[in-house]
Amino acid sequence: MDTLYLVIPCYNEEAALPETSRQLRLKMSSLIESGVISSRSRIVFVNDGSDDRTWEIIEQLHREDSFFQGVKLSRNKGHQNALLAGLMTVKSKCDMIISLDADLQDDIDAIDEMVEKYYNGCDIVYGVRNARDTDTAFKRKTAEFYYKAMNILGADIVYNHADYRLMSKRALDGLESFDEVNLFLRGVVPMIGYKSDKVYYARKERLAGESKYPLKKMLAFAWEGITSLSIKPIRMIMTLGSIIFLVSIIMLIYSVIRYATGSTITGWTSTVVSIWAIGGLQLLAIGIIGEYIGKVYLETKQRPKFIVESYLDDNE
Ligand code: UDP
Ligand code: MG
Repeated sequence: MDTLYLVIPCYNEEAALPETSRQLRLKMSSLIESGVISSRSRIVFVNDGSDDRTWEIIEQLHREDSFFQGVKLSRNKGHQNALLAGLMTVKSKCDMIISLDADLQDDIDAIDEMVEKYYNGCDIVYGVRNARDTDTAFKRKTAEFYYKAMNILGADIVYNHADYRLMSKRALDGLESFDEVNLFLRGVVPMIGYKSDKVYYARKERLAGESKYPLKKMLAFAWEGITSLSIKPIRMIMTLGSIIFLVSIIMLIYSVIRYATGSTITGWTSTVVSIWAIGGLQLLAIGIIGEYIGKVYLETKQRPKFIVESYLDDNE
């Protein structure tokens, strides 16, 4: 029997934690009783620098039942980094980890199937939403557009898969060897390789509290995903630049012919338009290149992705 750890990033989740911990505890107990996972399995909450009572609740859970563990980050570092911190902190203690959100929007009954696929030899099992009925139409549409855009722009991500996934120990070791600072888990995990599979589930309503991903964060996340994974935008700009250059040569020939035939008064409109068009394009191109230079700058700094302040485990 293999050991399963659940890793749950939490940012201001005081409203959801009591119910989440109760449900997950029941799930894990039943898996242990039916002999699917070992009794050394644990549930780990990662406190991502919450401003509310999240950490106190985690500490209390741990005090009352050492089945619950807590990892406290030194400050808020965002969902992806919090998740990574949790994975890396506990990976040496277990054979597989399932990561999920604290609001239990992801159906925890999919855990059974994930573990089953793990025993069938999968190193990575992706949880995929087959319905988004509970999300607003706006969120659904933007998410759909996002996955499509990501694929066109060269990021190989699993459609409708968030961060609900099982990873085996060796897949986690593989993940650890990705040294990049702008780490976008959903894009990097498929790069690890190994045998993988998908488990489908219906996404539910948030248990309690509010979404920690307002539109602004969602857009930032989408942009981060694209620029940290692929250099296709640069190539697209280069292609566009070449086309524009060709057009300008044609325009040049055209205006010379116009000059030769003696009709030179016209052309004010086209001049102004092209100044704006070229100016705009150049700015856009510089902006995108700047984005990548910014990334290079950050990578060379080798900043730590997270700093663990404390880890509550069994042996203290
Ligand atoms: N989260 C986090 N740090 C942040 C923002 C979110 O650890 O800065 C956690 C949050 O507690 C939750 C998960 O990431 O467990 C997903 O967030 P949320 O459910 O708010 O996102 P949504 O489901 O609305 O996209
Ligand atoms: Mg959620």
